[in-house]
Amino acid sequence: MSSNAKLSQLNPRQQEAMTYVSGPLLVLAGAGSGKTAVITRKIAHLIQNCGVPAHRITAMTFTNKAAREMKERVSKLIPREESKGLTVSTFHNFGLNLLRIELKHTPLKNNFSILDADDCKRLLMDLMHKDNLAGADSKELIGKAMRRISDWKNDLLLPAQAMSTAETPEDVHLAHLYELYERNIRAYNAVDFDDLIALPTRLLQENAEIRDKWQNRVRYLLVDEYQDTNTAQYMLVKLLVGVMGRFTAVGDDDQSIYAWRGAKPENMALLAEDFPSLKVIKLEQNYRSTSRILKAANSVITNNPHLFEKQLWSDKGHGEAIRVITCRNDDDEAERVAHDLMNHKLMNGKSWKDYAVLYRGNFQARVLEAQLRQMQIPYKLSGGTSFFARAEIKDVMSYLRLIINPEDDSAFLRIINTPKRAIGPATLEKLGLFAQDNHLSLLGASADQRLSMVFAKKAASQLHEFAGFIEDYTRRLHDNDDPVPVVRQMINETGYIDFVREQAATPAAEKNKLDNIETLYSSIQSLITRADDVDERNIESVIRKLVLLDLLEQQQEEDDTDKVNLMTLHAAKGLEFPYVYIMGLEEELLPHRNSIAGDSIEEERRLMYVGITRARQGLTLTLAEQRKAGGQMRQTTPSRFLDELPEEELEWSGKKKQKLSNVDPKAQAAAYLANLKALMK
Ligand code: ATP
Ligand code: MG
Repeated sequence: MSSNAKLSQLNPRQQEAMTYVSGPLLVLAGAGSGKTAVITRKIAHLIQNCGVPAHRITAMTFTNKAAREMKERVSKLIPREESKGLTVSTFHNFGLNLLRIELKHTPLKNNFSILDADDCKRLLMDLMHKDNLAGADSKELIGKAMRRISDWKNDLLLPAQAMSTAETPEDVHLAHLYELYERNIRAYNAVDFDDLIALPTRLLQENAEIRDKWQNRVRYLLVDEYQDTNTAQYMLVKLLVGVMGRFTAVGDDDQSIYAWRGAKPENMALLAEDFPSLKVIKLEQNYRSTSRILKAANSVITNNPHLFEKQLWSDKGHGEAIRVITCRNDDDEAERVAHDLMNHKLMNGKSWKDYAVLYRGNFQARVLEAQLRQMQIPYKLSGGTSFFARAEIKDVMSYLRLIINPEDDSAFLRIINTPKRAIGPATLEKLGLFAQDNHLSLLGASADQRLSMVFAKKAASQLHEFAGFIEDYTRRLHDNDDPVPVVRQMINETGYIDFVREQAATPAAEKNKLDNIETLYSSIQSLITRADDVDERNIESVIRKLVLLDLLEQQQEEDDTDKVNLMTLHAAKGLEFPYVYIMGLEEELLPHRNSIAGDSIEEERRLMYVGITRARQGLTLTLAEQRKAGGQMRQTTPSRFLDELPEEELEWSGKKKQKLSNVDPKAQAAAYLANLKALMK
């Protein structure tokens, strides 16, 4: 196919967006209007028709899954040789890469670790303990501190700045924790997820030479799902594109669903201020859904305030009615969805992968999974409890983390007694003090010969033994072309596998855990085999990559067999399926309880909008009249979003919902909009 034939598939507006390269561009358009399509075409256009070398182009997205899909779409448009060197990555991966390349200009040392939320939490707990801040409410305080620290980082505020803006005693307290946290995480030679954006951004801000280098490297930047950028990400975009503003951002303010992670849809309006020559192109034709589905989506989202008016239409025909199924309880709901999937597939001759079941919270998947398994319906679960959140994976990963970064005290603490080595808390505390006094990491301290002067003979020899073991395997794994067998041997030799066998409550749990460990090994293997760059075919880079990737997602990418897709509404962003089910249309679930209390219904409504607009042909909504919560059956209230759907397009089965009419979403929306406008002045 010639490149012209490919171009002709785009509509004139899309084509304009693709070919406009003379200045900054924002494509602002609703769901399914081809924004992501424009980005992928534009990458091909830049390479093939504008002479921009692939290695000078960077495209950013939010999830690993989206990044992989984009790469795939590009590879269908242009031959692989032509796209060699192209960067398509998530913001976090981009940041990680920049930090690695510019390592000597950062506060980090080689082989730094990436801490996940759980590690950060343990670190904070530890700090609070040491600082005598722990109290009855410490659990709540930790949650609060984690959120605040993340917000501060996403707003690019350093601890000192956080302190100087603190107004209440609680703010002062949290800012103090932030300072301790930063100091410790740096001492561990580690970063958290937010640092992966904040550190590179600060570096580009402060160092003109590096900024020039990266601006030169990123000749053209494309950003998908722009509405979900937070302040730090927006700053990173601005620093990368410089005054020339060679970028295309695409987004939909109605699909902004990450405010809780600091996303600011106002960044769309800011673009126009920061780049006065910004061109804005709106797309209005939806190529994804039937007009009935679009009508439903529009009628829900119109209850939200709008900064930018958009009108979506489609020529896919009126389509099937939207079904609403009221079920007795959550078990009944799962059963009916499973039966419906089965019937629908058989009656219509579809494949399993044509179906997606979406829900608000991961816990909702459990009942459904059990039902699907029972009926032997194949399914795949995306973005559930992250693979890395599982204890056995965290344990094995901690061994590997310690191998690649001996300073990683949080990994050390996790495994020093897993499996049991009878190294008691008193010994560990003493070890901590010894390490502190001698400016050593915990592993470094364990290897220190002076240890025998401070510790009882047995304790000292146990610590030496552990340190020797890690050292030995570090040597064996270093520069090894085939590290997986060595990793396996190491984990066996620690006695960890026996430990899992002993600890597992049931044979099924044991098998599950051992399978997970095997999956981890095979993922390490496949990352090594597939690394484009020879320099990345070693255990160090692979472990670092693994921490970032959601492994589950990655497996699914490789797993293209025919299965029903199960995922949260958040995880479904950007995707499309012929038939979509959304479960749990109940107050407190969708909209979520926290959003009702926290007055952020708009965000939940956008989530509902995202869900509806994933569907191409069929949309089914389900709700349960009773749901188990905290071990009890509770009566539920149907979701207010059901009221906001066009009644004439709905087909009910089971009890029909009575209108809730005490809230006037439009009046609420008008008030919110007035506030937002005042804010943006
Ligand atoms: P979302 O907001 O959900 O991310 P989007 O705006 O990114 O949606 P795409 O995923 O790019 O939309 O496109 C939606 C669907 O429409 C895709 O299946 C895509 O292939 C198709 N599509 C886009 N543009 C055209 C076109 N001009 N002609 C035919 N199909 C198109
Ligand atoms: Mg998209």
